[in-house]
Amino acid sequence: MSTVESVTETYATRLERTLPAVRERIAGACEAAGRDPAGVRLVAVSKAHPVEAVDAALAAGLRDLGENRVHELEEKVAARGRDGVTWHMIGHIQSRKARRVIDLADWVHSVDSVKLAERLSAGAREAGAEVAGLVQVNTSGEASKSGFSIEAAIDRIHELTELPGLRIEGLMTMAPFVDDERVLSQAFAGLRSLLERLHGVTDAIGAQLSMGMTNDLEVAIREGSTMVRIGTALFGERPATGSMQ
Ligand SMILES: *Cc1c(COP(=O)(O)O)cnc(C)c1O
Repeated sequence: MSTVESVTETYATRLERTLPAVRERIAGACEAAGRDPAGVRLVAVSKAHPVEAVDAALAAGLRDLGENRVHELEEKVAARGRDGVTWHMIGHIQSRKARRVIDLADWVHSVDSVKLAERLSAGAREAGAEVAGLVQVNTSGEASKSGFSIEAAIDRIHELTELPGLRIEGLMTMAPFVDDERVLSQAFAGLRSLLERLHGVTDAIGAQLSMGMTNDLEVAIREGSTMVRIGTALFGERPATGSMQ
């Protein structure tokens, strides 16, 4: 068996085990919260894994795939295309790469500045396309995390929602990487209540809350997540590349 085949088999075999487990975690969290699991979209984060992981995910029926770096998204889209896949860009994007992202992604979860939003809007208009965006909010206040502060999101929301070509579907956040449920709950509840406040001032923002990763999806679902971004629990530990988080 060639290396490529054995890698493919590894991801396919792994997903046979991990995908039902992740679906069960989502279903369990929804049941505990009295929510319908159909209201939580699973975005499979294939970042740092090879194209074989994408193939295995597609073969397993997953259609929402997430990447956090533009060049890696570019490689995977070049290899597997956009048909039948909804690509989600979930990582920080330098403004000068915004135009490229328009040709690659259906969703951008990491709209973390007005400047980036403007570039995405200009790129979308140039391409005659429309992209779904989520405003990334730094709910923990950690300096290492990008995103709008709660106050800035409120101040700038009209500028963001008025840009043509960029449809603001909701908000996204990353909780601190801790196990303390109270800290996680606080971050996620903060995002939910921010969305409620924003809905009080504009109806031009959607109802999506992208929150919850391998470590904290149950807490995120309890607090109202509509999109969970799951990497490790599906594909295993990421191969070390030196630049991944
Ligand atoms: C890597 C990443 C994820 C997935 O993280 P896991 O802990 O592996 O599930 C989710 N969201 C963002 C923004 C990421 O960069």
